[in-house]
Order: sequence, then structure tokens, then C-alpha cells
Amino acid sequence: MKYIIIGAGVAGFAAIEAIRSIDESGEITMISDDPHGYYSRPGLAYYLTGELHDKALYPRTQVDYKKLNFKYLRGRVTQILRSEHALEIDGKSRLTYGKLLIVVGARAIPLEVPGAKLTGVVKLDHLTDAQNILKLAKRGKTAVVVGGGITALELTEGLLARGMNVHYLLRGDRYWSNVLDRNESKVVEGRLQAEGVELHYHSELKEIIGKKDRVSGIRLGDGSTIKCDLVAYAIGIRPCLELVKNTDLNIDRGILVNEHLQTNDPDIFAAGDVAQVYDPMSGRSVLDSLWNPARDQGRVAGLNMAGRKRAYLKSPPFNVTRLAGLTTTIIGAVGGGRDDDVIGIARGDSETWRQLPDAIAAQGGFDANHVRILVGEKTLIGAVVMGDQTLSIPLQKMVAEKMDISSIHDKLLAPNAKIADVVADYWSKHVATA
Ligand SMILES: Cc1cc2nc3c(=O)[nH]c(=O)nc-3n(C[C@H](O)[C@H](O)[C@H](O)COP(=O)(O)OP(=O)(O)OC[C@H]3O[C@@H](n4cnc5c(N)ncnc54)[C@H](O)[C@@H]3O)c2cc1C
Repeated sequence: MKYIIIGAGVAGFAAIEAIRSIDESGEITMISDDPHGYYSRPGLAYYLTGELHDKALYPRTQVDYKKLNFKYLRGRVTQILRSEHALEIDGKSRLTYGKLLIVVGARAIPLEVPGAKLTGVVKLDHLTDAQNILKLAKRGKTAVVVGGGITALELTEGLLARGMNVHYLLRGDRYWSNVLDRNESKVVEGRLQAEGVELHYHSELKEIIGKKDRVSGIRLGDGSTIKCDLVAYAIGIRPCLELVKNTDLNIDRGILVNEHLQTNDPDIFAAGDVAQVYDPMSGRSVLDSLWNPARDQGRVAGLNMAGRKRAYLKSPPFNVTRLAGLTTTIIGAVGGGRDDDVIGIARGDSETWRQLPDAIAAQGGFDANHVRILVGEKTLIGAVVMGDQTLSIPLQKMVAEKMDISSIHDKLLAPNAKIADVVADYWSKHVATA
């Protein structure tokens, strides 16, 4: 069998490992246009702050690659020719496939304001972007961050760590309003301000002003200006669909796949950030931009390409991340409302989080140590854990395994309930009896 994998991210490598676990001799070729190959994209945030060296971003060694026995081609796939089972690479050479996996990920949605192409306007998709930011970030100079979600804060933290003065523009009155509640947004904003970030509420970027092709400032909707040397944006990401647009593969916001990660062409599979996958929680097909689901989907796609019939069971998505230095876990459906700072989804984000669950919110703790849970009739639907992470894993398990919480339902919803204590007590009893 001839397998081709387009994209060298976590989904692609998980697929190769899965194929090799059942097919030792099939010919596997991976093609990627990223000059840096496979590295941790979530790690880029820590590379920006200087907490991680670029060498620490690579999860695999040359020895690991050798063991997997595959061919790696550096190039851009420019066309999929389905009727010929072939790919066009860099507009010229062709390769034929038996089974194809599309794992081309997602890309930052570009800013569409005058001046968006000036030198000094940056985003954070790839290692090359992070290197570019580090080249442009200068101690004592000023940056403006536009957008929302996790990446906007990662950019803010990275630029602060490099000694820049940072202005953060928010279109509305609070940060990440469709995932966090008002309290949680305020905690994050307070920490940003304490770090010296200047927050601008109800502010819309209208124009980036340049001098000799370089950023020199921005103009806001109300006509006011801010002098700056760099503009970093994170207004959302979009699955890379150019490659499949003329192929008659079914697409919506991403490439639509069934539970086997198979497209409407039985020889073509898709996984990771580019795939739109069925979510049993909502009964809809949703996008995630999360490392673990991309890896798990890649694995299932690889097994199925090699002849197995494995179903991918999407579990409630979670992410342990850092918001303004505060460790935060987001689990399942916690959202609602709107976020005018992000179009679609952001990096490290899931459409599932945005769903307004049929549940009652209960919360406990204040400021940095905070737990919010979404309580359904018999199960927990979602949770946000900020600061102290003792309950992060118990809550992930309680949501993912739909554990019956009837015995503590009323206690959780009682006025002034000590939510964290009730959950901890439930969990310790569960562990004792498991
Ligand atoms: C800054 C940042 C922070 C993040 N934070 C988190 C986090 O906190 N938690 C979390 O869970 N996830 C996070 N993520 C998201 C996570 O990294 C992604 O969900 C995951 O990497 C997706 O893997 P993938 O294999 O689907 O795609 P990708 O890793 O994007 O890989 C796609 C590959 O396809 C290649 N490619 C694209 N088009 C072509 C083409 N036409 N021809 C050839 N090659 C092509 C690309 O070069 C790349 O190699 C973050 C991502 C970023 C960038």
C-alpha cells in the first residue's frame, strides 16, 4: 500500500505511528511545506517568552524518525487529482497514492485593515512567525495586540517578556467573553494590568499607520492613535481548505469526516485542525484546535488507512493553558455569549467550549483560585479551573466519563456552596471505591 500524508504536525505523525503498528512494509511518504518540520506549536508561546529554547520544541529525534521508516518530502502540495489518485507538488511533480491523509492544519485569519501588510505586523502560526517576532521585538519599544482567545495573551506575554510596552485592544468590555464568565475575564484582565499591559476596551483597530513600509502606529475607530513599532494579531484561525476546494470533497468550516475520519472519498482521510468532526455532545460536527484531539484523530485515521475500522469517539475537549500567568483548565461546554475579538475559533480552542450548555453554573473561590462547573441533571457538562489545579484532573474525568453526580447535585447548587470541597469529597469517595 502507498500512503501519503500531507502535513507534518502532530496528527500526521500519530498517523504514521498507527500505520506502522499494523503495516510494516507499506510505503509511507509525508510532505510538508514547513521548513522546520515537526515541532510543538503550543510550545511556541514559551519559546516567545524565553522559557523554552527552540531545540526543546521538537518532540521526536532523528532516531525516532528512522524507526518509523517513512520518506519525508519538503514541498507544498498544490493539487489533489482524485480521479488519478495523484498529488501535484509545487505545481510540477506528481506522486500517486493509495490512501491519502490530509492534515494541513489551520492558519491565522489575516487582518483586513489598511496597513496590514507593513513590516512589523505579526501573527503566531509557525516557528518562522515566532522567530520573526523575536527579530522585531525590541526592549523599550511599543506593541499593540489585537484579537482574543489564548493566542492574543500568548503574544502579549511574549512581547512583555521581551521588554516591550504592550497595549491590548478589546472590541467589547471584557476578555474572551464566549468562554470565560465575567469574573474570570476580570481576573485575567486584572493580572494583565498588574503586569503593565494597557487595556483599551471598546476599541477597534481601523488602520495601521506606516513609515517607510514599517509600522509606526495605529488608528482606532474613534479616530485616536497609538504610536507603536509592532502590531500582533490573533483574531482567529481557519482550516486550510484551499487544497480541497476543487476536489468535491465535502467541506463546511473544515473538511467533513465521518467517525472513521474518512471524507466522502473512501481513500481520503482528514484529521486535526483541518477536520470538522462529529461531536456526540452537541450532535453537530465541530472544529477543535487542540493538540490532543489532533493526535488522537491522526492515530485513528492512520489505523483506518491501514485497513482497520476504528471509530473516533470525540470526548469533551479540555486544555490546560496559561492566561496572564494563571494556569487555567477549560473542560467541556462552558460558554455562551459572544466574543467580538475572535472570528471563528482561536488556537488552543474548541467550538464545544462555546456551547451554552443546558446546565446551571455554580462557582466557588475568588480571584486567582477559582472553580466554575456547569451542573446538568445527573452529570457535569463542563468546568473552568483557575489557579489551584487540584481539581483539574478529577473534573476532566467527571465530565468525560459522565460520572453520576446525583448524590451531590443539590449540594453543588446550594447557596454559598463550597463547590471545591464538595467536588473534592465526591472524588475522594469515588477513588476509594474504584
Ligand atoms: C501558538 C499556538 C498555541 C497553541 N496552544 C495550544 C494549547 O495551549 N493547547 C492545545 O491543545 N493546542 C494548542 N495549539 C493548537 C495545536 O498546536 C494544534 O491543534 C495542533 O498542532 C494541530 O495539529 P495538526 O497536525 O492538525 O496541524 P499542524 O500542526 O498545523 O500541521 C499542519 C502541517 O501541514 C503543513 N501544510 C499545510 N498546507 C500544506 C500544503 N499545501 N502542502 C504541504 N504541507 C502543508 C504545515 O506546514 C504543517 O506541517 C496551539 C497552536 C499554536 C500555533
